Amino acid sequence: MSDLQSRIFAELRDKAAFEAAQAAAFDYLDTMLARPVAPGPDAIARLASFDEPLPEHGMAGTELIARLHRDGAPATVTTAGGRHFGLVTGAAIPAAVAARWLGDAWDQNAVLYRLSPIAAKLESVCERWLAQAFGLPDETVLGLVSGSSTAIFCGLAAGRQHLFGKRGWDVNARGLNGAPPLRVVASAHAHSTVLKAVALLGLGTDSIEWAEVDDQGRVRPDRLPALDPSTLLILQAGNVNGGGFDPFDPICGCARDAGAWVHVDGAFGLWAAASGRLAHLTRGMERADSWSADGHKTLNTPYGVGMVLCRRPAALAAAMQMSASYITLSDQREPMTYTPEMSRPARAIETWATLAFLGREGLDSLVWQLHERAVQMAGALGEAGFVIANDIVFNQLIVEVGDERTTRAMIAWLQDSGECWVGGATWFGRPIIRVSICSWATTRDDIARAAAAFVAARAAVLESVTA
Ligand SMILES: *Cc1c(COP(=O)(O)O)cnc(C)c1O
Repeated sequence: MSDLQSRIFAELRDKAAFEAAQAAAFDYLDTMLARPVAPGPDAIARLASFDEPLPEHGMAGTELIARLHRDGAPATVTTAGGRHFGLVTGAAIPAAVAARWLGDAWDQNAVLYRLSPIAAKLESVCERWLAQAFGLPDETVLGLVSGSSTAIFCGLAAGRQHLFGKRGWDVNARGLNGAPPLRVVASAHAHSTVLKAVALLGLGTDSIEWAEVDDQGRVRPDRLPALDPSTLLILQAGNVNGGGFDPFDPICGCARDAGAWVHVDGAFGLWAAASGRLAHLTRGMERADSWSADGHKTLNTPYGVGMVLCRRPAALAAAMQMSASYITLSDQREPMTYTPEMSRPARAIETWATLAFLGREGLDSLVWQLHERAVQMAGALGEAGFVIANDIVFNQLIVEVGDERTTRAMIAWLQDSGECWVGGATWFGRPIIRVSICSWATTRDDIARAAAAFVAARAAVLESVTA
């Protein structure tokens, strides 16, 4: 046995690093809610301690865990708490984190059934549970990927495969040179990852025909470009700023009649379908062809869980095709059939754990609770004289505080305060503050505290502007 193996076997036997990690994690979780949301300058300064050459001799597991806890933990953003309102990210539900820890000890490769029967089983269970929660057709298949960026890419790849295939063009073999034309119609408010996917697929962002939107950023069905059997149409469940939902019912009906492929980017908004009181927002989206959603947003799984769902298994499988002499398929559902990666973590473990922990009822309450908190925040800010620029249909708020300079100063003040974390964007060309309520942990008190921080920020910023 080599010296290195002796060291590693010793770690495996004594579990000291695992115990240290558990103690450090528990310490973090116990003190997390009282931390500032963003780290202060001292914590950032301490990160310089990581700027060192690769050590000649390795550290013990306990030592590197101690380093992470001492110098790393203070420089985290408290995205797992209740007052982080940036991007649209959830806070990992503790039971799902625990399940992921266990899964990490198993160290499974979710590529093939034979390499991990448990990962493959949980994936097929999630496939059924998710299709039911979203109200999608029974034949819907699931690919678990790293996030919506990849999930959108996969959905559009399946659409590209299908639309070309109908015209006798095998795009895998023949590529795009000399291919029949393919049209891409997308919402003028499509997420930037949609553009990225269009570019990666060689379809060209300049070729996108933009669908006009209304004042809530929803596609206007009356102004939609004509659809035909060569059209890839990309809609959205949940505008990344305002939270608006495209009117799926009329549009998906027309698209189906026209033979177009519809992909729905529902990164955080698809989950509205899982709440009885909000499902009306997604009505008609079940008639699309593919959908993408994130676990690490509304579902509150740990990071790294994206989902592509597709009602045409053959199209998705053909788009993700690959084979090699060393790959032996079983007669079971093979996870790699529906994803671009081969080796990958068993994301189904934390996805299954989150869904199992919540149950249908918990999922419904979680989604509804996010909406209620957003309504509360809009009410509190409105009362304090802030301008809310969107209808609060889901979990997103757009706050207008003035010109670019004022908006930036407000955002910086709020982030520096550690009271809450918000980001900026533009909405119809105007600078705005985005507030996304996506964490299971956000309480009524958190909202009251965040609204008070907005009031304090406004006072501080106005003072500095007029000074
Ligand atoms: C977050 C988001 C994405 C990108 O998702 P990632 O998981 O960050 O890759 C795409 N579309 C919408 C609407 C989003 O909110």
